[in-house]
Amino acid sequence: EPYIPKYLEVKYTEGSNDKKWSSRDFPWTKKLEADNKKVFGNPSFRPNQREVINATMSGCDVFVLMPTGGGKSLTYQLPALICPGITLVISPLVSLIQDQIMHLLQVNIPAAYLSSNMEWTEQQEILRELNSDVCKYKFLYVTPEKVAKSDVLLRHLESLHTRESLARIVIDEAHCVSQWGHDFRPDYQGLGILKQKFPTVPVLALTATATMSVKEDVVQALGLANCIIFRQSFNRPNLRYSVIPKTKKCLEDIDNFIKKFHFDQCGIIYCLSRMDCERVAEKLQEYGHKAAFYHGSMEGAQRANIQKQWSKDEINIICATVAFGMGINKPDVRFVIHHSLPKSIEGYHQECGRAGRDGLPSSCVLYYSYSDYIRVKHMISQGTVDQNSFGSGYGRSNVATSGRILETNVENLLRMAWIVLKCLRSLLCNLIHFGEKFESTNCRKTCDNCSKIQKCIEKDVTEVAKQLVELVKMTGQKFSSAHVLEVYRGSLSQYVKKHRHESLRLHGAGKHLAKGEASRVLRHLVTEDILVEDVKKSDLYGSVSSVLKVNESKAYNLFSGAQTMRLRLPSSVTQSKLGKFEATPAKVSLTSGKQSPPRTDPSAAPQSPVDTNL
Ligand code: ADP
Ligand code: MG
Ligand code: ZN
Repeated sequence: EPYIPKYLEVKYTEGSNDKKWSSRDFPWTKKLEADNKKVFGNPSFRPNQREVINATMSGCDVFVLMPTGGGKSLTYQLPALICPGITLVISPLVSLIQDQIMHLLQVNIPAAYLSSNMEWTEQQEILRELNSDVCKYKFLYVTPEKVAKSDVLLRHLESLHTRESLARIVIDEAHCVSQWGHDFRPDYQGLGILKQKFPTVPVLALTATATMSVKEDVVQALGLANCIIFRQSFNRPNLRYSVIPKTKKCLEDIDNFIKKFHFDQCGIIYCLSRMDCERVAEKLQEYGHKAAFYHGSMEGAQRANIQKQWSKDEINIICATVAFGMGINKPDVRFVIHHSLPKSIEGYHQECGRAGRDGLPSSCVLYYSYSDYIRVKHMISQGTVDQNSFGSGYGRSNVATSGRILETNVENLLRMAWIVLKCLRSLLCNLIHFGEKFESTNCRKTCDNCSKIQKCIEKDVTEVAKQLVELVKMTGQKFSSAHVLEVYRGSLSQYVKKHRHESLRLHGAGKHLAKGEASRVLRHLVTEDILVEDVKKSDLYGSVSSVLKVNESKAYNLFSGAQTMRLRLPSSVTQSKLGKFEATPAKVSLTSGKQSPPRTDPSAAPQSPVDTNL
């Protein structure tokens, strides 16, 4: 019996191509259009909103994949107004819930929420109201742990259901169900109980990020057999992406960039650690910007205060960990800067997605350094990434050690490393949104990597790779990559002499190579796991030092001839005197076949990698 993964059995229908759902002849169409204008003040519907509403109001289970800011809330808020009964909304963060409820109350729609950290008497009062014959609420928002852990709530929902008053179940930020996603919340996995208990109540799952595997996971975990899927393009034409090598002058660069292109405008700077947030904010204040920091270990009130000042434009720039952002609804964010490498490409896309929601041109700048890559990798392996991300209650420490998650996170990060090499737009679209194909030729140089096109050449670097691995062994597997490279290039520094490296057979073996070539190969060896960076925190500020080690089992393939290594290098790099090379069309060979590379149009012009120093 061949093993068939369970998710292959899940059936679903593509809703986006079915004309039925865009019909204006549903019994509720008139009321729908009227309420959209009258209650919510929207002149019309945005892409897929009408379709999703029609499908969920027809009683189908629906999975919606719509970019951040696309207007997902309306797709359950309007049906809730039109249908009798109450709509249950599961949302991951209390701050998100409060934001939603505030908006609903502003337009006079009664809504309530339950969360574990509310006073018990307050919870009782809401539950009592749910039990009354004419419940005044149209919405009940809950955090997922409420569903998983509160029998009281389930009993009340059952009672609502028997009175035919449970109109719809909405799972907001549904990607949190999946361990493959970037925001996994264990409590989301318990939500399958809802479909089991209330099989006739339509479920609406909403998310802005879902890879193929995330979507399968969500559909599976929630028990959405035969659901209809709506999705739309995730390309954001008004965002301009760039990747810039990070140097010691990074903060000066950021200051210049903001003053030159976005002076006095609103922006977010994502940092890796709390300490980074505070340092970056302080520096920007010195440069005269209205900046503040925001991270998970701040008091709730303090965070709320910063958010408020930001929405009122009293603060322009927020230096934050990823804790800042979910549900941020500011339309005029003109720039999102990543001061460090994000931990996954999904996360990167979502964070960038907070820029330019009003459709006006906005910038997304990523500062990339190899040492940040190593730093994030270290944080992932230590399970410390997510403690920075969310306040108490949402840490994933209980699962951080599970192999699958660790692997997924590292793999996600690896894909992040590709970001310096390819059309950023196609990379984001193709990798994230199950099957949306965005050809890099359509980018028309609106991303940095495309606009800096240089001729790229594919080259066999197997020999260089072997020499580097050998050199790591010769020097005793106790030096940093920078040092190994120095020896390879034939440096005669005091340090090299002191360790008697200059007498080694491979000292200077890489002399003939073009600048940057050896370091690229070395970095590739690390991303391929043939060399391993043994990382240690070296100071309070989170800077790390690392020592290269050889992963013998992987290195074996290289030396036995089972694996060759080819890299695309910009032609300036391949101008080496001895290297044999041939020109080939752009083809990703960064991975040696074990991961499927992102699809690209092979006829597209090759792109140049950004040169980043070790
Ligand atoms: P999402 O949850 O998809 O990120 P939201 O539901 O929070 O997005 O909506 C983002 C913004 O778009 C909100 O300010 C909302 O009022 C606005 N919006 C939603 N639908 C429409 C529409 N049809 N026309 C105009 N504005 C809309
Ligand atoms: Mg939303
Ligand atoms: Zn591009």
